[in-house]
Amino acid sequence: MRDDNCIFCKIANGEIPTMSLYEDDQFNVIFDAGPATSGHALILPKDHYKNICEIDDEVLGNAYKLAKKMTPVLMDVFEADGLNVLQNNNEAAGQTVFHFHIHLIPRKAGDKAMVAWVPGEQDKEKLEKALEEIRKRMA
Ligand code: AMP
Ligand code: ZN
Repeated sequence: MRDDNCIFCKIANGEIPTMSLYEDDQFNVIFDAGPATSGHALILPKDHYKNICEIDDEVLGNAYKLAKKMTPVLMDVFEADGLNVLQNNNEAAGQTVFHFHIHLIPRKAGDKAMVAWVPGEQDKEKLEKALEEIRKRMA
């Protein structure tokens, strides 16, 4: 379940030494090397999964439970007013390391650390068609 060419596999499993905020049998939590804000951390599963489509359900559930547990701790320690929990899937969505990970990004009021999107408009007809397909596939 490890990929020899994956840097996050190596970091999560201690082959590349790094500052670890938390470790258990499934995860290692590290600081991001190119942080959006002070305290920006990454939850890394020790096993290799490319993205949310490929990750084991139990590991995914535990990853988000860990995100919940770490959020108030990071907010307190980094004196943050908020925290973004986010996760990118595939290059088009901004994923640059193809080993599933969750970003924990402490935020201060007004920090402008992340670019907000300009709200657009939905195509109602397209959504109605999509709804039908989505409900069928989710049933
Ligand atoms: P993503 O764009 O969602 O794939 O996020 C990858 C993140 O990993 C980026 O925020 C990088 O700054 C971070 N990163 C890349 N290499 C390392 C590394 N060796 N140690 C810590 N963080 C890293
Ligand atoms: Zn990996």
